[in-house]
Amino acid sequence: MLIETLVVGFLENNCYILADEDSRSAVIIDPGDNEEDILKTVNEKKFKVEKILLTHGHPDHVGAAEAASSETGAPVYIHDEDKKLFKIKAQKPVAENDSITFGKYTIKVLHTPGHTPGSVCFLADGKLFSGDTVFAGSVGRTDLPGGSYRDIMKSIKEKILPLSDDVEILPGHGPSSSIKEEKRENPFLVDAMEGNYHLY
Ligand SMILES: [Zn+2]
Ligand SMILES: [Zn+2]
Repeated sequence: MLIETLVVGFLENNCYILADEDSRSAVIIDPGDNEEDILKTVNEKKFKVEKILLTHGHPDHVGAAEAASSETGAPVYIHDEDKKLFKIKAQKPVAENDSITFGKYTIKVLHTPGHTPGSVCFLADGKLFSGDTVFAGSVGRTDLPGGSYRDIMKSIKEKILPLSDDVEILPGHGPSSSIKEEKRENPFLVDAMEGNYHLY
């Protein structure tokens, strides 16, 4: 699987473009801003964008979704719970355990509420595109509308910790990591493992 990473917008969101190296079928995850740069990459690499996937509805992740959708004709996928954060045409729902395909690859959807009610992570080819649910060393803030500390800890416990240690984490902001590293270094994952989150 080919992965192009673009850091876009003033909040420096990681926009990921995943592509099948043979068929050039592609998906864009979180086109937050800088649609020209995203489309330039798509054209240079001769990617055929089939789907636009949003980890959640915050503006720094969805800002260029409509432009990218109208340029490529690809529909935009977002969890129903985050639709109210973001009004766009061509919406398709994603839900827990959905399989989304492009080329020979399949992306599995994990519903991970907490940062927002409709936050999801996308698991593809041993890589977790974690949006603002998990970062290297931290988790997404839960003090914004719809956020819940208990929910994000539950999501980490039930959806993130069971993943294999060698799964790479490609978050919505900042550097990449792995489940193994975060189980060791990330205080929120450590709390979730130890069952300490009810203390907060
Ligand atoms: Zn966010
Ligand atoms: Zn963000």
